[in-house]
Amino acid sequence: MEDKTIFEKIIDGEVPSEILYEDAIAIVIRDIDPQAPTHALIVPKKRISRIAEAEEEDAVLLGKLLLAAKKFAKANGLDSFRLVINSGHQAGETVPHLHIHLLAGRPMAWPPG
Ligand code: AMP
Repeated sequence: MEDKTIFEKIIDGEVPSEILYEDAIAIVIRDIDPQAPTHALIVPKKRISRIAEAEEEDAVLLGKLLLAAKKFAKANGLDSFRLVINSGHQAGETVPHLHIHLLAGRPMAWPPG
């Protein structure tokens, strides 16, 4: 696996970030380049490069990440929100460390660009 990703550096305290929530398995940080009034990233502490490389053994972790997103939305009074996972370059992935984007606070278009 390549060198540490920016998210691993944030998890390890080597790079500052606005950490909105943290528990044993994940952090939730504010996206540095927000695409909506609320734009958070749910990032597992375990390095999985992308959802395309998740394994059966990650099933519980993946479920917990979705529940963390739900809890974050509820705690922040977000009735409507969108979750996005970019997997692969053409899909827009720029950081090879699985993360869920949580976007809220404005109308969302469909299909996404
Ligand atoms: P993706 O393009 O789906 O891989 O998403 C990566 C996201 O990480 C982008 O939305 C970036 O704005 C965000 N990002 C990159 N560096 C940082 C950072 N240091 N702190 C917070 N978010 C970041």
